[in-house]
Amino acid sequence: MKRTLIKDTSHCVGEKVRICGFINSVRAHGSLLFFDVRDRSGIVQAVITADTDSYKIAQRMRPEWVVELVGEVKKRPEKMKNPDIDTGEIEIEIEEVNVLSEAKTAPFSVSSDGGEINEEIRMKYRYLDLRRERMQTNLKMRHKVMHYLRNYLYEKDFTEIETPILTKSTPEGARDFLVPSRIHPGSFYALPQSPQQYKQLLMVSGMENYFQFARCFRDEDLRGDRQPEFTQLDIEFSFMETEEILLLVEEMMVEMIESLFPQKKIKKKPFPRITYNEAMEKWGCDSPDLRENKNDDKELAFAFVTDFPMFEKNEKGEWTSVHHPFTRTLENAEEIKKDPGKIKALQYDLVLNGNEIAGGSLRSHKLDVLQAVFEVLGHSKQDIDQKFKHLFEAFSYGVPPHGGIAFGFERLLMVLQGEKNIREVMAFPKTGDGRELMMGSPSSNISEDQLKELKIEIKNERERKNTS
Ligand code: ASP
Repeated sequence: MKRTLIKDTSHCVGEKVRICGFINSVRAHGSLLFFDVRDRSGIVQAVITADTDSYKIAQRMRPEWVVELVGEVKKRPEKMKNPDIDTGEIEIEIEEVNVLSEAKTAPFSVSSDGGEINEEIRMKYRYLDLRRERMQTNLKMRHKVMHYLRNYLYEKDFTEIETPILTKSTPEGARDFLVPSRIHPGSFYALPQSPQQYKQLLMVSGMENYFQFARCFRDEDLRGDRQPEFTQLDIEFSFMETEEILLLVEEMMVEMIESLFPQKKIKKKPFPRITYNEAMEKWGCDSPDLRENKNDDKELAFAFVTDFPMFEKNEKGEWTSVHHPFTRTLENAEEIKKDPGKIKALQYDLVLNGNEIAGGSLRSHKLDVLQAVFEVLGHSKQDIDQKFKHLFEAFSYGVPPHGGIAFGFERLLMVLQGEKNIREVMAFPKTGDGRELMMGSPSSNISEDQLKELKIEIKNERERKNTS
């Protein structure tokens, strides 16, 4: 007999159905046993009477057991209807019970929204935590938004191209995660902080319109809106100016939200444009929250921030790039070297309810400008040659003017789902101190043979044992 999804059972009154799922709750009412059964599509009430053959088995069933039930769908008496669930008008009168998997008592309830549970415990038992409705909804919405944006860009003639994970350092301002090479001992791959250089190289290849849902890795101190591993919707285009890029981004956001989040209200269309200086003067930050009511989850206040400076000084008094060194400047190489503090970058950010959800820029494709920027950033000629020779060389074979943008995909989802932390929109995130508590990573449980092969020696053996 074919399985019926729980959401469809209400259309099957008078029919025999087979449902599969988890026991959500159990109630005894005299000799009647009631079960709420849950599958990916919803919840339904099932009832078994004492004269049924399977009654004895049913008596043992507990919350979170995985079961298969066969029974007839019956209309509930008027008084027993439950308007809170989609299947509230019916119940299933159980004839057969098959226990597919018994379950230990879960360490926490999966029927609440989870906010009351210690986060480390939620992470340790993430597979149980994901059973709760809020997390199921977040992951399904994540999928829907991804699917929508992917199709949107596909319709606009973009090509999705994957770029390597084992790669070489690219400067996005964070520390790299390194992976030792076995075949080339002493050499390391870097995990990409973003596909920045690869996507620019794809422009040299003539791909013109690229996008990718890209995994990015940044070894930095974590905050609520940061994870060591996260996803970007990464986009790059050839022959497009800022205005066209911003319009595409705006239209894509508006259409996605109006179709997937009709209950939300976009505060202002077209999105307001604010210069960096204006933002800093008026709000004291470059990602202002423009909502009227900051407690209102329904309100979405987007804004583009533009006209950024190219460089700023770090705490050591050295020049660093506000976006990244590949950003195009208004000024030429001479001017860049003469007065870095005055240089304007063709950078733009998209801000949503006070979060920077996307950032991008037009890129320098002139070699002397790139060279000047790297010099201001303190790279020696030799250093530039070693780190970026491939890019300079590629550009010397003909490069279309290009630009792009990348969305922090989880940040966008966090705001849309009304969550306070990006962990809530990721299936298996890391804790605040970079650990994944379920599998137990990072792990020092590496065999001597593996280390030997990699020609890696760990100096402090005791520390290694203690952290395993
Ligand atoms: N790679 C940049 C970033 O990760 C985005 C871009 O310039 O397209 O912020």
